[in-house]
Amino acid sequence: MEKKKSEVETMKEKGIASAMEKNSECRDRDCFIHGHLKTHGRFFDGTVTKKFLKRVAIEFEKTVYVRKYERYAKSRTKIHARLPKCIGEQIEVGDYVRVQECRPLSKLIHFAVIEKINGRKLKEEEK
Ligand SMILES: [Zn+2]
Repeated sequence: MEKKKSEVETMKEKGIASAMEKNSECRDRDCFIHGHLKTHGRFFDGTVTKKFLKRVAIEFEKTVYVRKYERYAKSRTKIHARLPKCIGEQIEVGDYVRVQECRPLSKLIHFAVIEKINGRKLKEEEK
């Protein structure tokens, strides 16, 4: 799930540029583009399962090796991520988004949505 840093950084910059153009009125303090929030660390891609006013819950699957049975098992991970106002309008339940780690914003939230990457996941599922 984790991508190469250079690739991710350029994608993030592109996302920031497009968001800047679209929305210059964002007054969200915890927006990583217009506010003071800095994102760093791990990246994850997942499907939005629930949308709240200022956060989303995303879910993704990964395979984990179980040593006892020498086999791989599927495991699901759920992450709550901060949803900035300027990105929030575009995102609906079922969308495929990318989140990045940030400082803990609350008990649940220590990730922030940085990009909408809809479509790519759907194509993979069709195969
Ligand atoms: Zn913003």
